[in-house]
Amino acid sequence: MHDIVIIGSGPAAWTAAIYAARAALHPVLVASSVEVGGELMNTTEVENYPGFPEGITGPELMAKLQAQAERFGTEVVYEDVVAVDLDGPVKRVSLADGTEYDTATLVYATGSAYRKLGLPEEQALSGRGISWCATCDGFFFRGKTIAVVGGGDSAMEEATFLTRFAEKVYVIHRRETLRASKIMQQRAFDNEKIDFLWNADVAGIHGTTAVTGVTLRDTVTGAERDLELDGVFVAIGHDPRTHLVHGQLELTVDGTIAVKGRSSGTSIEGVFAAGDVVDPHYRQAVTAAGSGAAAALDAESYLAAREPAAPEPAVAVAAATTRSTP
Ligand SMILES: Cc1cc2nc3c(=O)[nH]c(=O)nc-3n(C[C@H](O)[C@H](O)[C@H](O)COP(=O)(O)OP(=O)(O)OC[C@H]3O[C@@H](n4cnc5c(N)ncnc54)[C@H](O)[C@@H]3O)c2cc1C
Repeated sequence: MHDIVIIGSGPAAWTAAIYAARAALHPVLVASSVEVGGELMNTTEVENYPGFPEGITGPELMAKLQAQAERFGTEVVYEDVVAVDLDGPVKRVSLADGTEYDTATLVYATGSAYRKLGLPEEQALSGRGISWCATCDGFFFRGKTIAVVGGGDSAMEEATFLTRFAEKVYVIHRRETLRASKIMQQRAFDNEKIDFLWNADVAGIHGTTAVTGVTLRDTVTGAERDLELDGVFVAIGHDPRTHLVHGQLELTVDGTIAVKGRSSGTSIEGVFAAGDVVDPHYRQAVTAAGSGAAAALDAESYLAAREPAAPEPAVAVAAATTRSTP
């Protein structure tokens, strides 16, 4: 039986592995079969991860985290987890190739999938003008003309935030009313740099090495027109990857895994969760890494508390016996 199995290969999982490996828990990390490295594999420059003053590319950062985890003995398995059985003190993790791991603790760090527009150009231009994270990438659009796609609170927040950098921000929304709360809407309406394009869908993205514009389709008339842009921020939501634990772990109203207070402890003892799968708000590499560290430390404490108490040293017993003798 294993002390700890970690599912995921983003900043949360690798950091949990670094801590668990250095605590001699011999972690097994199931990294997935095709998407090793998590969301940061989709980006070029990461400029806000501490310790890299010149910035670092997403794939390079993930390679460094993996190397650090492996240096201390993490066993990396390039497979997908297809089922977990969290009932009882021994958790079972089943992989697509039929392998099964029994483990005393499990760290669940499967991240959250950003919803995509579903256009063929989207993946190729990811990190080259297409972004899902204003906090991460807004800085690269100083003085530029950009668009935010979406009509909820996140879209309004991102659009308003992006006006700190961009010259002009269009909000592209497929309806003529927003889902966002009134206060977020008003803030965006009051911002002179923001213009709303109602009843509009993005039907195509232009550019080969960088975004140069989009084709907009009117959702009422079907008419199409082009709009020149330097960047597109997609803010149409995200889906925490929780399907394996539905019916087993408690979830929050946001669909993330519920954890106790600031810890990584879930509704089942011995199961810890970290990173974007527990985080409806911050969703940053560094916050994911921090919660991965917490998960490994929580797992370590849980294992230590389960260990049978060590017998009293013989000398101490003898001394105590001598003292209590009349
Ligand atoms: C384009 C883009 C740019 C970004 N730029 C920045 C930035 O500059 N700075 C910043 O701080 N943040 C940035 N972010 C956000 C950052 O990427 C995330 O906050 C962070 O990656 C979350 O880490 P995580 O470990 O929770 O999950 P993820 O990085 O999402 O990793 C989860 C991993 O779990 C794996 N997994 C899921 N299910 C299974 C399964 N069943 N079996 C095995 N493996 C599984 C997935 O394949 C994935 O590899 C960006 C995000 C995007 C999309």
